Amino acid sequence: MVMQEDIEKVLISAEQVHTRIKAMALEITRDFSDIESGITIVPIMTGAMIFTADLIREMPIRMKINLMTVSSYPGASLRTQGVTVLAKQLGDVHGRHVLLIDDILDSGGTLRAVIPLLKELGADSVRSCVLLRKDRQTVKGVQADYVGFDIPDEFVVGYGLDYDSVYRNLRDICTLKPSVYSTNTPNTP
Ligand code: 5GP
Ligand code: MG
Repeated sequence: MVMQEDIEKVLISAEQVHTRIKAMALEITRDFSDIESGITIVPIMTGAMIFTADLIREMPIRMKINLMTVSSYPGASLRTQGVTVLAKQLGDVHGRHVLLIDDILDSGGTLRAVIPLLKELGADSVRSCVLLRKDRQTVKGVQADYVGFDIPDEFVVGYGLDYDSVYRNLRDICTLKPSVYSTNTPNTP
């Protein structure tokens, strides 16, 4: 019942996240401040929800927010099952300068699928921002323009990131006890 009992360790505390986000927001704001028409933020749902909410409130520039939903880890899976763009509630990104926001860069499959799509839809430019980047080989040629933290190749939850749709509301970024996975599906490590 109590989520905290499932935590193995805290990898990055809420305080560390907030300090880093302020620095990232300053850098991004500086880079985009010349764009008269403002920018379009595209957060990849649902994982980037909390990160985006905190980041954009530190960015005093004109912006539109257009959501995109992508699924690569359905249900209780710990490795990507291939990227599916589930819904595009994008609205018009034609001629816009887009900042794509995701929670974590792992294999790179998500950004590799989504960046060309935004360009096909007529975005003038697409830059990407991730809170976390895993320390493992990413899909060739996929890089994020802004990265919050580099982390080891471990499955993490909290601050928007889920396991089987749970734990998104944990304040810190954490790993879970192995027992949490062993009581679940065959996809477990
Ligand atoms: P990629 O497409 O780069 O392999 O993975 C990106 C997506 O996979 C992220 O948006 C996130 O939804 C999911 N993901 C990758 N690693 C983790 C992780 O350690 N924990 C959680 N909760 N999701 C992850
Ligand atoms: Mg995601």
